[in-house]
Amino acid sequence: MTPSVEQALVERILQRDRHAVGRGISLIETESPDGISLIKALYGRAGRAFVIGVTGAPGVGKSTVVDRLIALLRGNGHYVGVVAVDPTSPLSGGAILGDRVRMQAHVGDAGVFVRSMATRGQLGGLAIATHDAVVVLDAAGYDIVLIETVGVGQAEVEITRVADISVVITIPGLGDDIQALKAGLMEIGDIFVVNKADHSGAHQAVAEIETMLEMQIDKSKTWRPPVLLTQATTGDGIDLLLEAINRFHAETSPLQSQRRRNRDRLGLWQLLQHHFRRQIETGDILRSGEFKEILESLSRRELDPYTAVETILERTLRKGE
Ligand code: GDP
Repeated sequence: MTPSVEQALVERILQRDRHAVGRGISLIETESPDGISLIKALYGRAGRAFVIGVTGAPGVGKSTVVDRLIALLRGNGHYVGVVAVDPTSPLSGGAILGDRVRMQAHVGDAGVFVRSMATRGQLGGLAIATHDAVVVLDAAGYDIVLIETVGVGQAEVEITRVADISVVITIPGLGDDIQALKAGLMEIGDIFVVNKADHSGAHQAVAEIETMLEMQIDKSKTWRPPVLLTQATTGDGIDLLLEAINRFHAETSPLQSQRRRNRDRLGLWQLLQHHFRRQIETGDILRSGEFKEILESLSRRELDPYTAVETILERTLRKGE
């Protein structure tokens, strides 16, 4: 991209031109150098959006809840960006839901931008791409950004750390899901939602989550996560969910600033790690095939990992001189 083309793209993004926003996110997704220049140009213009993470197992109703939230937020005059992350790794074997089938109700509403992102390589890359997509949407003036992720593993949960608030959704009778909640989602939830209130056992699920929260809540915490009941298909309870989100936003500003600082720090380390690794893998720090040779020497115990790291670091630093 020439500087003038890039400048034009930046201008159009800042004017909330949907095609430009889509193009920008594609550049990021493919990890092109143009995507990096774009973030450099937009970063200083972002930082105002409130980012809401919505996490839960497949099928609990995340998209339906998000769809209802968008409608309420639009009614309140917000511009809403949505990043739906589909961690379709060969391991998780999930299915990609394209933008086509998501949130059809908002097609044609210029105040809503919905984008699915899928992982190509490692999840680390996806977390970075998600973060950057939020920068683009934020700079474009979407003042609320929703990130929808499948909360199936620690790596996916990491993605939600981009958010200012995390909403964890579950449904009644999902015994395994309660186990999953215990395993990691419990810590990240600022609001818990038991969706599909029309299914039996909904109140019991609420009680179970409340009991679990009771056990782990640190009394010094400023925010006590509420557990809400919704029926996304009819919209019941979504107004209370939005009310809880607004209350969190209004009541926890020190917590939010602290999270943002943490997030910047973690994000920077993640980016450093990602780029350093890429340099090692594809840059000219090591000869072609040398990384493999190092690994073989390690397994033959001719080389120890500390010496290997020292050698690689030394060469990287020398290259930068
Ligand atoms: P996601 O995979 O978590 O995004 O879930 P979806 O939003 O795609 O919903 C999965 C299925 O559950 C769809 O068929 C929805 O219509 C249905 N669903 C969502 N919310 C409710 C609800 O409150 N009650 C019932 N009975 N079904 C729901």
